[in-house]
Amino acid sequence: MKIAVIGAGASGMAAALQAAWNGANVTLFERNAEVGRKLLVTGSGRCNITNDAVAPKKYTCADPNWMAVLLSQFGVNDLVSMLAQICVPVHKTSDGWYYPLSESAHTVVQAFSSALEIAGVALSSSCQVTSIHTKKNGFVLQYTHEGEAQEKLFERVIVSAGGMAYPSLGSRGELFPVLASLGQTVLPKRPALAPLILDMGKFKALQGVRLDVGVTLWDGSRKLASAAGNLIFTQWGLNGPAVMDISHHVSARPDASLELSLNLLALFRNEFDQILAQKRNSRLPLRVFLGAFFPPKVISTYLKISHLPGEATLDNVGDDELNRLTRILKDTRLPVKGVRGFEYCQVSAGGVPVNEVDPRTLESRLVKGLYLTGETLDVVGPCGGYNLHFAFSSGAMAGKTAAGQALSSA
Ligand SMILES: Cc1cc2nc3c(=O)[nH]c(=O)nc-3n(C[C@H](O)[C@H](O)[C@H](O)COP(=O)(O)OP(=O)(O)OC[C@H]3O[C@@H](n4cnc5c(N)ncnc54)[C@H](O)[C@@H]3O)c2cc1C
Repeated sequence: MKIAVIGAGASGMAAALQAAWNGANVTLFERNAEVGRKLLVTGSGRCNITNDAVAPKKYTCADPNWMAVLLSQFGVNDLVSMLAQICVPVHKTSDGWYYPLSESAHTVVQAFSSALEIAGVALSSSCQVTSIHTKKNGFVLQYTHEGEAQEKLFERVIVSAGGMAYPSLGSRGELFPVLASLGQTVLPKRPALAPLILDMGKFKALQGVRLDVGVTLWDGSRKLASAAGNLIFTQWGLNGPAVMDISHHVSARPDASLELSLNLLALFRNEFDQILAQKRNSRLPLRVFLGAFFPPKVISTYLKISHLPGEATLDNVGDDELNRLTRILKDTRLPVKGVRGFEYCQVSAGGVPVNEVDPRTLESRLVKGLYLTGETLDVVGPCGGYNLHFAFSSGAMAGKTAAGQALSSA
């Protein structure tokens, strides 16, 4: 079985490896000079590989049942054992996030690179695939290498060419028109896991502050999404997992008037209420009370916005003023202006909808012998290892099944 895998990212490397382990003759095409360029920058160079909480409901895609079928075949344990096979032992944090023991994405890429070589995968690096044509019993792949156009024949093709996030690392979306010409639907690509651009108004003063908060995205009175986690205030808006996790709802609605609500008390409402009840009638300065939860910049900004004097003590603040402050801390509304572009987002939404691909095999339902994996498909997971899990699991299943073997471990 002659198989071409296009793209040596997380998904394509998993696909090529599994296909070779299952006896196929595999050529892996990569436009960059080296494999795994994007993998190197994941998890801030630590590579957050997967997560204990991987489950269909965590992903945004056309059909949660599709994701359930894929994950039932290649879950967290399957990924962990595949990584162990290539000498990447992992550990998990107390909140269930998996990283390589080395805490280095570099060692993960090295392990894949060496496993591909040992498995006999032929790496065609610095080769950009430009077109895929169907032919009786196979495909003709056209590609350029050092400016020269070439072509080769394959029986099966696995497209793992990513989406459009961080184009400088290799995924620029040129194969989407090619997939469309083969008959696949291609939904417009748009940023996901992206920073949010907001009208920051007085909150510009908080530039550089990091907080753990709850966020909710509103379209008028309709709640679109909510998330909790860390965020960072900037001049132009907010960055960090809490807002990135809901950003695909914003990029899906470019013309809507959306608002983001920040809840600064989301993660310690009980402690806030308890200490307030204990100290309500004391001479404790309001600033010191708020200092139990927030850094000074946040306190000054929120006191100003709530029209409360910095020197106020808890016993001389009226109930109305205190309620106003609490209300603003729980629900600060910021008008949403959009998301930052592909250069700043971790994944892109859009691409080929999952229902055009069989979740048991990752083979296209429209073009026999064509397999689609990873970010080429319209799937978005939140921050925390979910996107790499999807890239690895869809790649691994495509590789196994394209090689024509049973769906058991290699
Ligand atoms: C900064 C950053 C940090 C991230 N951190 C995490 C994290 O910690 N955990 C997590 O789960 N996810 C993380 N992600 C998301 C994760 O990296 C992606 O979900 C994942 O890499 C997608 O894998 P992929 O193989 O589908 O695509 P890619 O990794 O984009 O790989 C596609 C490959 O195909 C090649 N290619 C494209 N077109 C062609 C062509 N025409 N011919 C030949 N080759 C081609 C590209 O050069 C590229 O190497 C992060 C992303 C970024 C940008």
